[in-house]
Amino acid sequence: MPQSNRSHAAWGALLVFVVLGCFAELSPAAESHPAAALVDRALEAVRIDPEVSRRHAEQAIEVLGRQPHADLELRAHLILCDYYSERDRAAAEAEIERATALLPSATRQGLRAGVLDCRGTVFETAGDNTNARKLYEEAVAVASAADDREMLANALYSRGYLLGLQGSYAAGLADLKRAESLFAELNLPHHALTAMNGIAILYNRMGDFEQARNMYSRALEEQRAAGLRREQAVTLHNLGRAHEKLHAWPQAETAFNEAAKISRELAYARGEAYALRGLAAVANARNDPNEALRILARAERLQRDTPDARLNAHIELARGIAFHKLRRLAESATALQRALEIFESADAQHELRETYAELASVYADLENWRAAYASLAKAKSASERLLQNQIDQRFATLKVEFDTAAKIKENTLLVRENEANQKALAHERRARSLQRALTVLIVLLASMLAGVAAHQWRTTRRMRRLALTDELTGVPNRRAALRRLQPLLEDGHGRCALLIIDIDHFKQINDRFGHPEGDEALRLVASCLRDEVREPAFLGRLGGEEFIVVLPETGLEEAAAIAERFRANVMTLDSRRWLSDCPITVSIGLTIEADHDTPSTMLQRADAALYEAKRAGRNCVRVRLAPLPATSKQPRDEALARTADCA
Ligand code: GH3
Ligand code: MG
Ligand code: MG
Repeated sequence: MPQSNRSHAAWGALLVFVVLGCFAELSPAAESHPAAALVDRALEAVRIDPEVSRRHAEQAIEVLGRQPHADLELRAHLILCDYYSERDRAAAEAEIERATALLPSATRQGLRAGVLDCRGTVFETAGDNTNARKLYEEAVAVASAADDREMLANALYSRGYLLGLQGSYAAGLADLKRAESLFAELNLPHHALTAMNGIAILYNRMGDFEQARNMYSRALEEQRAAGLRREQAVTLHNLGRAHEKLHAWPQAETAFNEAAKISRELAYARGEAYALRGLAAVANARNDPNEALRILARAERLQRDTPDARLNAHIELARGIAFHKLRRLAESATALQRALEIFESADAQHELRETYAELASVYADLENWRAAYASLAKAKSASERLLQNQIDQRFATLKVEFDTAAKIKENTLLVRENEANQKALAHERRARSLQRALTVLIVLLASMLAGVAAHQWRTTRRMRRLALTDELTGVPNRRAALRRLQPLLEDGHGRCALLIIDIDHFKQINDRFGHPEGDEALRLVASCLRDEVREPAFLGRLGGEEFIVVLPETGLEEAAAIAERFRANVMTLDSRRWLSDCPITVSIGLTIEADHDTPSTMLQRADAALYEAKRAGRNCVRVRLAPLPATSKQPRDEALARTADCA
């Protein structure tokens, strides 16, 4: 539920929507019940002071013991469930049991969604996002079936938040926006505010830190004015996170300090522990790892009182970074491994990327190249997954600028990976020359060493080949293709053409026939393209269902004809298995190299052309050229007109 205890970066949610949602639908009998006012007060206090909220809920249950009323009692248990979900898992589960027992006598059917939601929250806090997600899905279904808009908004909030955490930005954003507008329609402005905070957290995750920071600042003003103290603690923490991402350390420190202070005053251990984690990150950034470790020890003491697995992992991550700075490399690797275990099981892609990247650098310092390489590969795969999600969400709408930032980040990762590869290869070379020297001295031993060296060499080659090949389709992967493109742009010879080829409506194949069948379709298209692309032209898989083809020294007219041929050939593929009588089709974005082009600028243009092809109805080729220099008189429209008809 969108309540109090979202994880941190997470944790924006603070509010017991489930519980709060119950207000608006009190039946006349409930309104006149002596416990009704207590439940109301408990709900109001959720956003202000959790301890006060708990006391009111307990008093309400006492009154309800003498004069039962199932709906009211259920709400009181949901308030307590929310309270305990971030403090004491067993107590939260006991509240869920009590609420479940009341369901058969409840008149409001939608309350079942509230119980499912809180159950999901308990799983989410424990880091089990698979089960949390299932329960949120169920809550959404139950609230929809009961036509209970408040419960629906609550469940959408929970699901949207979790989807964002798992990197599904488009779906997450859609849920959160729907929750926000439902709350606004229901005239629940504080709920809508919390939903807006959830959206801000998502922007933060997508890398739009500025936007997130502005939204938090706005929310904070409103929360201060309304006296919502606990909400303030959470928003301040999130604001600190946004500053942290922007490397605005003094501002981050101020926000985290204030979040810690308010949490302390509210005896809110979890909030304080999160804020301390933030302060430790600030200390790390200031190159004071000893201070970071001291702060983290305090955070850990507080954390022991809360069942929050991801908080624990964040503490380990900060500790790993501090140990790394202190060159206590083994301890650093251990702490980072502990963090990874939790992030892996929570499927938290951002955190995985950050932790693997740090671990790779620790292993590199330990000169354990193989482990460094493996960690970098994991960081890259998390990065790719996030990137793919960004691309999906761009087609779903919104936020195009973010893409560029993410691509730059990915390129940085690629560069780092390359450096690690280079180091590993240099290391291999040193080892081999040493073996040759030994060969001269002791023949027997040398032959053995030669065997070892040969094996190492084969392994290195195999690893290199694997690292440059897309596993699924067997064609070169994105890195391999871009690596070949770079020198072409620098050699000063004729201009090359670049095509991005994207399968149309591919998601439908996955959705209707399953992922393995989708994979099969991808292989089929890849093999069709491979048959077509001859040296010196080359092919690669950019990611997802997108391929790149580079045609060296090829002009616009010829490239457009080739693209058109690819498009037509794909249509002839035998796809009856998936699509009965409807062929697989592709849309193609084409561009031609311009002065000062880089792989990134060419990709951006081809991507924009592809987007046009999609908008034009798919199954067609579109061209996007670089703007002509002011002096040139060559007409551009001619080039743009040279495209295939859309199906
Ligand atoms: P459009 O015509 O606009 O391109 O629609 P689309 O459905 O092809 O594109 P969208 O980007 O919405 O969906 C692409 C899907 O490709 C989403 C993702 O699950 C799927 N996908 C990405 N990589 C793989 C893969 O390796 N195997 C399979 N089976 N599916 C993949
Ligand atoms: Mg597609
Ligand atoms: Mg695509």
